[in-house]
Amino acid sequence: MKKPLSLQEMKEWRTREADAGRPSSFADLCRAFGLCVTCLGGGVTYNDNGLGFKVVGMDGDTQLFEQCPVCGGTGMLQSSGTQNPTQGQNV
Ligand SMILES: [Zn+2]
Repeated sequence: MKKPLSLQEMKEWRTREADAGRPSSFADLCRAFGLCVTCLGGGVTYNDNGLGFKVVGMDGDTQLFEQCPVCGGTGMLQSSGTQNPTQGQNV
């Protein structure tokens, strides 16, 4: 699963938005780029304490993480149909 943005691009976006006086939190970035806000585009569920991801098992030496229930593990914002009504475009 390819991420649409590199860490560097995210940093640049946040700096640019902050400089412009616009919301520049990670959640804002996710919305702007259509990433799942719940898992922040990672496709897996964060631990309840916010540190790392929720591990549901092991596959050999590889940790298996819980798939994000909101986006189904895609890391992308899900919307029913082509338009997201919460974005308020041409309602
Ligand atoms: Zn998600």
